[in-house]
Amino acid sequence: MNAITLPKPPRVGLVSLGCPKNLVDSERIMTKLRSEGYDMSPDYAGADVVLVNTCGFLDSAKEESLEAIGEAIAENGRVVVTGCMGKEAEVIRARFPNVLAITGAHQYEEVVAAVHDAAPPVPSPFIDLVPEAGLKLTPRHYSYLKISEGCNHRCAFCIIPSLRGDLVSRRPDAVLREAEKLVAAGTRELLVISQDTSAYGVDIRNDIRQWHGREVRPHMTDLSRELGLLRTPKGETPWVRLHYVYPYPHVDQVIPLMAEGHVLPYLDIPFQHASPKVLRSMRRPANDAKVLERIRGWRSVCPEIAIRSSFVVGFPGETEEDFDYLINWLEEARLDRVGAFRFEPVEGASANALPDPVPEEVKEERYRRVMEVSARISAEKLAAKVGATLDVIIDAVDDEGGASGRSKADAPEIDGEVHLRDAGGLRPGDVVSVHVEEADDHDLYGVPA
Ligand code: SF4
Repeated sequence: MNAITLPKPPRVGLVSLGCPKNLVDSERIMTKLRSEGYDMSPDYAGADVVLVNTCGFLDSAKEESLEAIGEAIAENGRVVVTGCMGKEAEVIRARFPNVLAITGAHQYEEVVAAVHDAAPPVPSPFIDLVPEAGLKLTPRHYSYLKISEGCNHRCAFCIIPSLRGDLVSRRPDAVLREAEKLVAAGTRELLVISQDTSAYGVDIRNDIRQWHGREVRPHMTDLSRELGLLRTPKGETPWVRLHYVYPYPHVDQVIPLMAEGHVLPYLDIPFQHASPKVLRSMRRPANDAKVLERIRGWRSVCPEIAIRSSFVVGFPGETEEDFDYLINWLEEARLDRVGAFRFEPVEGASANALPDPVPEEVKEERYRRVMEVSARISAEKLAAKVGATLDVIIDAVDDEGGASGRSKADAPEIDGEVHLRDAGGLRPGDVVSVHVEEADDHDLYGVPA
């Protein structure tokens, strides 16, 4: 019988100071590390890294925390500091410049990431219940990448900020590490999501991190650039698709990255309406009247950019004139993909108190008109692709030699598909050149080129 020697897991020492809340934080951190295969070390000597969870409640507690850090440095040398004293990182650094990382209280993801940096986990297919890239509910070849939680806006129809709080961005290196693991595990397409992707990093503006020897700001542009530099195990560039982007001026900086092929030429922008009056009453962010001009500018930099959006019809106070404004705007903007919703009051949303509700039959009629106009525009745009050769990512194959996939202009679940004939031998996740033979309102039909 052949014996297999399992890799030795890294060992973490812990010094936990302060109140019971801090103790619970320590338990959560250690539970997470243990679930990743780390061992606990009862002494300094056996630890690959020592975590000091500090207390900063009183001056005496701070001094005790500093002494504990000093002792861990003297006895072991590889120390990560977390807890309440994380707020006074400069005091700690002044006294102990060799501390590996300092994070604040409740920043579980940051602490765990700092331990990963100091003593990388050793993945083992024999004992890990969870693959390195985590458990996924999407097919293996595409993955959602959440870059922040919560939202700083207060749109009148939405209760997400009251459910999830204000924007909290993830560290850029933590996002990139997750993306790198996903790509190493077979992801060919990363779908960047949040409540407001263009606002990413405004809450941690100065938290610049090192990533593969380069500085990365917590900013949509830096993140997009770095995601575009990832490579699959076969050396291919993964597709990177940006969702929930608002048309703030800095979005213009991402368009050249699309033109250069770092990020897919695709923007999912939930405009929700076009009439300035309705947008104001909805309290939508970035709702200036020059959006059409901006879209023209993006198309001049990156002609193949596909723009998808969603719109709400029948918002309280929406007049026939506001609705006509929306229809004319859609005719001019010629978006590639459009979804529409009839306004529905959500419990707790401030829009419920607005006057002039729109009757249900009027909502229905407006919904029908938006869908008609957008289907015609979509059909015209897709018809123009007949005869072209496009890259398509394969999502599914059947037993009769057919397959379905998506072009760069199509996100999974929400946009159209490309249906292929004579596609034997392809597998989900393959990216192939396809000659487009036909089109309808939403889908393309073709054959591998
Ligand atoms: S709809 Fe408005 S408030 Fe709600 S998550 Fe989106 S931007 Fe934030």
